[in-house]
Amino acid sequence: AVPLVVAISTAVSANNGLLIRNRTAFENSRNITTIIFDKTGTLTQGSHQVAEVITFNPAMDKKEMLRLAAGVEQNSEHFISQGILRKVKEEGIQVPASEAFNYLPGKGLEGKVEGKDVKVVGPNYLQEFNIQVPASETEEGVETVVHVLVDGLPIGYISMRDQIRPESAEAIRILKENGIKNLLLTGDNERVARSVSDKLNMDGFLANVLPHQKQEKVKELQAKGEFVAMTGDGVNDAPALAQADIGIAVGSGTDVAAETADIILVNSNPQDIASLILFGKATYRKMI
Ligand code: ADP
Ligand code: MG
Repeated sequence: AVPLVVAISTAVSANNGLLIRNRTAFENSRNITTIIFDKTGTLTQGSHQVAEVITFNPAMDKKEMLRLAAGVEQNSEHFISQGILRKVKEEGIQVPASEAFNYLPGKGLEGKVEGKDVKVVGPNYLQEFNIQVPASETEEGVETVVHVLVDGLPIGYISMRDQIRPESAEAIRILKENGIKNLLLTGDNERVARSVSDKLNMDGFLANVLPHQKQEKVKELQAKGEFVAMTGDGVNDAPALAQADIGIAVGSGTDVAAETADIILVNSNPQDIASLILFGKATYRKMI
């Protein structure tokens, strides 16, 4: 049976943009009862376009804030970083050198730029350290928002717009039709999470989720008897991918995620996951 499974999984991979690193993952895919989707880069394109740059501090103009933020963001390959760096390039801003870079999992980045302590972080960071920012329109939108802090002071924010992948709605529909539950888990804010979940008619969502909480959520579902597949991209998704019964790394993800995953989604297309499950079910039905 082993060569047959190898042959089948190879065929599935070739046809569906999947790289199956662990053979039993293909066999087990037919047992999946719940799929947890990481939002960015799987259900959405990760195309993060800077929508708005707002500064609170009259002494700091937008270009200067973008310049400092880019100094830190150049150290990361996150979709947020790529979006900010594209904007900076468009504006013809020279990215300054940075040092003492530190990644804050699920929260953002920090580093030293020209002797200043610069942080680019999500609202979850502000909440954790109880940092107040001037009232803004931000929370009205459905954008991903990152705040810029210089020497501990919030000086403004950058909001970014991503797009839902055209294949996502069909992928969710197929999964539902086959009795597989779906859940959106994201470190992003609640409005963005709700908007994506609603537009795709998903079973549910959890927002502001930190990396270790993603892993706990997988465990919790497993304890209820669910057979859980999880998709993810970032370094911070690795523990959850490892915890899941089937870990699926998206193609554009980091090496760490790819090493932890059982399956790699080469084209980052969620429909390929639906195909994998249907194909797995059909194959083993025939073989039995
Ligand atoms: P997701 O679960 O959607 O993949 P992440 O865990 O990667 O989200 O990120 C969660 C949040 O952490 C982001 O919405 C943002 O607020 C913040 N964050 C992550 N990476 C960066 C970055 N490179 N720059 C600024 N903020 C970031
Ligand atoms: Mg992620």
